[in-house]
Amino acid sequence: MSSHLSGAFDPVRFRHHLHRYPELSLQEQKTASVIIDQLLKFGLSPHTNIGGYGIVVDINSGNAGKETLLRADFDALPISEQAEHDHTSRHSGCMHACGHDGHTASLLSVAEHLSQHPPLTGRVVLLFQPAEEIGLGAKMMLADPRLQQFKPDAVYAYHNLPGYPLGTVVVKEGAFACASTGVNITLRGKTSHAAKPENGRSPATAVSRIMAYLEDLPDSIDDAFCLVTLVHVKIGNPGFGTSPGKANVMATIRSDSDHALACMQKQLQAFVDTQTADQGLTSTIEWVEPFSATHNHPACTQQLISAATALSYPIEVPTHPMRWSEDVGEFLSHWQGTLFCLGSGEGHPELHNPDFDFPDDLIGIAARLFIKLLEERHTHL
Ligand SMILES: [Zn+2]
Ligand SMILES: [Zn+2]
Repeated sequence: MSSHLSGAFDPVRFRHHLHRYPELSLQEQKTASVIIDQLLKFGLSPHTNIGGYGIVVDINSGNAGKETLLRADFDALPISEQAEHDHTSRHSGCMHACGHDGHTASLLSVAEHLSQHPPLTGRVVLLFQPAEEIGLGAKMMLADPRLQQFKPDAVYAYHNLPGYPLGTVVVKEGAFACASTGVNITLRGKTSHAAKPENGRSPATAVSRIMAYLEDLPDSIDDAFCLVTLVHVKIGNPGFGTSPGKANVMATIRSDSDHALACMQKQLQAFVDTQTADQGLTSTIEWVEPFSATHNHPACTQQLISAATALSYPIEVPTHPMRWSEDVGEFLSHWQGTLFCLGSGEGHPELHNPDFDFPDDLIGIAARLFIKLLEERHTHL
């Protein structure tokens, strides 16, 4: 793989390379190794295999000052790419449909800059995170004792955002992205002959009540944005002779408040327990891919806005948080900081679509903003 990347660093070529060879969450070994190779070529000394394939570069001025952590993610998705360009995915059923290839290329541009222009004060930490899409990478990295030596007073990360003009900075203080969790409810009763359903215990009634309950669940919370999306339901097996004995209900629950999400989880658990007892069933509830809400720190957000203003980047402050979740929320519940978005273009295909491709021009736009932020934070004490 590295033979494709010989010579001077070209962030667009690097991004195309990652795009050609995407790897799913927790399997990003080769992606991590090309990132490490590139950092070594810059003369930097990456710490590797942090909480899985995580990578951290510590650039310490040796002088007192601020500590800034910049984060990018690098995992891909189980989606089959539909595109014509020459850097289409060579791994069938897997693609960079969320633009993490571009986020990583941007942070490597910053790494190259820092290798030539290190901070004059304080410390800059570059963090490359695996397994973002399944909400595990940040937790795994934070659990690694080697990450505990870092005490950043500001963490910054960006996500590209289709639907906004290219390079528009989209950011707000406070709640910026939602907390969410998948829920998989399994109900078990007893199958019976369809002519004698009274001999068995069908979960069908409980399923219909749970579906109705899920629909109304957001209304039970007053002071937060809440949303429940039913994603999958299965009762028994197709066959007219059998009354079902097993069912599954899957949904995604989200809110801009971690507390509201926890309340909905508790209420749902209690409702399922009641229905299970009422219908003579047994049940299990599995919570899958939980994400914390992302809260942006006011001072960090203001500093980002001032750097963007200095570069004359257009800025948009949304009135509501983004509905999606971002694993960076885990870092931001640990350290203060700001997640912001950069427009990928108004007509750009949406994230997680099979025709999505990160816009190359955004790599430099993002890198310049990060570098401006670092200049403002690490030139003076
Ligand atoms: Zn994604
Ligand atoms: Zn993403």
